[in-house]
Amino acid sequence: TCTAEDLVVALRAVSAAVVDHGDELTELDRAIGDADHGENMRRGFLAVAAKVDSPGQTTPAAVLKAVGTTLISTVGGASGPLYGTAFLRAATSLADVSEVDGVAVAAALRAALGGVVARGRAEVGDKTMVDALAPAADAAATAAEGGGDVPAVLAAAAEAAERGAESTKPLVARKGRASYLGERSAGHLDPGARSTALVLRALATAAG
Ligand code: ADP
Ligand code: MG
Ligand code: MG
Repeated sequence: TCTAEDLVVALRAVSAAVVDHGDELTELDRAIGDADHGENMRRGFLAVAAKVDSPGQTTPAAVLKAVGTTLISTVGGASGPLYGTAFLRAATSLADVSEVDGVAVAAALRAALGGVVARGRAEVGDKTMVDALAPAADAAATAAEGGGDVPAVLAAAAEAAERGAESTKPLVARKGRASYLGERSAGHLDPGARSTALVLRALATAAG
């Protein structure tokens, strides 16, 4: 199971991973966007690291809600509201959960995906973060159904997200800034799918 404190520690690891990989994300966004995804994510998750662990964040849901509002208010660009909504929906899904176990984590990922899709209207194959998050939610559900604990469910999600991010390379973007490039968007990983995989991998590593 996962406490608010565990989640704060994990989010600091996510923040560090985002900072570490900021240049990589920016280079991906340079190829098919406007070269700011690393900076957007860095700004957002540094603010998250500063914000979490404030008094009053005594439950995982409260921590995730603070993450969502912080990302929405600090990240410019498409990814801010999308990530922010994902964390807010995850928070809502955990609101009535007393113990965050594998099943609750899988439900939170499903809710996060629902938030991203509600906001961005992207489907799998559109070359967006949905291409990482949708398979992650599916893999998490399968792992949770099989009795997986929090580390096992997050590991399954991270693995699926990494494969999902790789799968965006040949795709032509149909949503977001990269879609303006049409066929020229093919041949590059989607930056948001890559960052989604990074975030989930950092959460899985912290949980394991
Ligand atoms: P911007 O494109 O506004 O500069 P970022 O560079 O921070 O914002 O984020 C770009 C990422 O946002 C893309 O790589 C993609 O994964 C994601 N994205 C953009 N539009 C959508 C959408 N409609 N649905 C889901 N994800 C999207
Ligand atoms: Mg960008
Ligand atoms: Mg931008």
